[in-house]
Amino acid sequence: SLHDLFGEAAPRPAAGGEVVQVLTPVGLDLSYSYRVPHGMEVRPGSIVQVPLGPRRMVGVVTAEPAELSASSNRLRPIEAVFNAPPLTPEMLAFVDWVARYTLTPRGMVMRMVLRAPDALEPEPPLRGLVATSAPPERLTDARRRVLALLAENEGQAWTRAGLAAAAGVSPSVVEGLVTAGTLAEIELTPGRPFRAPDPDFNPIALTPDQSAAVARLREAQDDGVTLIDGVTGSGKTEVYLEAVADALRAGRQALILVPEIALTRAFLERFSERFGALPAEWHSDVGPKMRARTWRAVALGEARVVVGARSALFLPFSDLGLIVVDEEHDGAYKQEEWASYHARDMAVVRGRLERIPVILASATPSLESRVNAARGRYRHIVLPARATGRDLPSLYAIDMRKAGPPRGRFLAPGLVAAIREVTARGEQAMLFLNRRGYAPLTLCRSCGHRFQCPQCSAWLVEHRFRGRLVCHHCGHSVPRPEACPSCGTLDSLVACGPGVERIAEEMQTLLPDKRTVVLSSDIGGGVQRLRAEFEAVARGECDIVVGTQMVAKGHTFPKLTLVGVVDADLSLSQGDPRAAERTFQLLAQVTGRAGRVIGKGLGLLQTYAPESPVIEALVSGDAERFYRTELAERERSVMPPFGRLAAILVSGPSRELAEDHARHLARTAPRDPAVEVLGPAEAALAVVRGRHRFRLIAHSGRDTDLSAYMRAWIAAADRPTRGVEAYVDVDPQNF
Ligand code: ADP
Ligand code: ZN
Repeated sequence: SLHDLFGEAAPRPAAGGEVVQVLTPVGLDLSYSYRVPHGMEVRPGSIVQVPLGPRRMVGVVTAEPAELSASSNRLRPIEAVFNAPPLTPEMLAFVDWVARYTLTPRGMVMRMVLRAPDALEPEPPLRGLVATSAPPERLTDARRRVLALLAENEGQAWTRAGLAAAAGVSPSVVEGLVTAGTLAEIELTPGRPFRAPDPDFNPIALTPDQSAAVARLREAQDDGVTLIDGVTGSGKTEVYLEAVADALRAGRQALILVPEIALTRAFLERFSERFGALPAEWHSDVGPKMRARTWRAVALGEARVVVGARSALFLPFSDLGLIVVDEEHDGAYKQEEWASYHARDMAVVRGRLERIPVILASATPSLESRVNAARGRYRHIVLPARATGRDLPSLYAIDMRKAGPPRGRFLAPGLVAAIREVTARGEQAMLFLNRRGYAPLTLCRSCGHRFQCPQCSAWLVEHRFRGRLVCHHCGHSVPRPEACPSCGTLDSLVACGPGVERIAEEMQTLLPDKRTVVLSSDIGGGVQRLRAEFEAVARGECDIVVGTQMVAKGHTFPKLTLVGVVDADLSLSQGDPRAAERTFQLLAQVTGRAGRVIGKGLGLLQTYAPESPVIEALVSGDAERFYRTELAERERSVMPPFGRLAAILVSGPSRELAEDHARHLARTAPRDPAVEVLGPAEAALAVVRGRHRFRLIAHSGRDTDLSAYMRAWIAAADRPTRGVEAYVDVDPQNF
């Protein structure tokens, strides 16, 4: 046959009568054999419909050899092939890789790829009216109005109702012109087409540092990873947009990953200024219709650039030429639900499988990426100064033991004075506290009763604007009562500690003539509302912003010159190997918002431990020293990036059931001198949504394949009893 003559270089389509393996998006590792009916052609990557038990499912033909032992006549046939481009061999390899590394069933990883089920049906073509060159025989005033409108908008297609409304005539007039042949109905490509960004539309003049960075990116057009390590505002975005331009010039697609909330209209506008067209977007707020169109456009190669949250990494690009991971250190890249993966790490893997360059960008790179850069595994580009020539903000610690606030207040007099000063100049101040709501704990002054979630081992957080006490882990909420439910005393409840709402209240009390707003994920109205709020702040429509960690990321508020950190020690006390690193990154990011466009940026850190290495590094501006100490500590304790961690989280409906299985797992852990198994211990949050949780940790050096160890472990252990679940998290980010 032709295949014998030309070899197997191209994936060989399977023609009717053969047997192929199909992977379905369910919680299984296995693919199943199906018969290809006569007249049907499929190849590895083809998206097909198959029967699975009593159900019909979408599945993907894999590259595995079919199990020929099965008598192909008894196999069920593939029912249909979808009108969508087959997944590429690289994409299939990526799915397998992610599944193996993260111990996620292959079917579940495939489910992340097939996230837009509607995309598999071609959209119904919309029809629209356009003018023909045949004028009507009889002209009325109404018809003249329609013709004039058509002439003014040459080439535009109209719906019947739209045309009638725009011309101010009744729909019957439009209908009459269709009958007369003056209007013809044509099929339209629905929706906004994915216009191709033009790499040479509007390049900006780069600074010498940026030009050097771009040159270094170009001199190595290979498939390596580059870390762009540049202070906030150093122009990293412009540098990686040049790499995107290069990918476009080469006729290939590009993917830019951002932490979800950083995907603002400001970013999209900047993209479109540079390239003359908007990128495709992919995040949780994209509706199902647009999702389907985008998925198809990516698979067909019509969408040239996608800007998206972590899940965009699983889009079926037909010819991907570049991946950028912006703010690569950001914790939002780790998904911890049903399939746990770190999008930055998996982006590097996808880049390697696709043989394309990957760019990681951050002002505060993760220790993992810094070590990879230091060892020469990643190219390292440093941008040491702001592109606008502006100075980085000056940071000072406010020692709360000596210069703290008066009783019952949370803001030190020094911080309040600074806020007064900048807002009097017409500039903005921002207060950062990573705690939603009004107060993290409510108790009864009379009997000491504390409000706890009935389903979680957590206190209920008061949300005063909503008048409720809310659990931040399960969403359980109750109205804030007037009287203590335990002793019945009226008005005895007191709020302990601050959340952002309480800080905003204190600001309003102290500076009543200034406008204070709260930016927090629970303001209601979803991502769209939140983005609108951010834009209002950027326009200068308030004086003081009080925000949770979402204000730390990727926004420029031009009038902002002062950032106050309400509790710089908050995330340090987590007892997690990454606590110091995370605190450093968060505080450097959030204070880096100050003085980007005007003024001299100032950052004030309220702390009870000004001598801690993190605070010292921030105040002295000596990030290098912090990283050095931190790396030495990690190396000493063989913690990532010098060692590896994997966790098993066991959860069950009762403490006993969960603990029993956790103990069973501890007993069955394979003996390996290179791996240390710790636990079981109760998880930091011992109960969530009524489920009791235990953790086991496997710890090894860098050179051990800890994923393989975990696979062997799970294989050796019994399946948990009903209601109990054991969930493996490779490279856990939280301890
Ligand atoms: P980063 O991504 O490193 O935080 P950005 O790329 O967002 O930095 O740049 C920070 C600011 O500097 C932005 O307002 C941007 O418009 C501006 N900027 C960046 N590069 C240049 C340049 N070459 N010329 C003028 N302004 C620039
Ligand atoms: Zn709860």
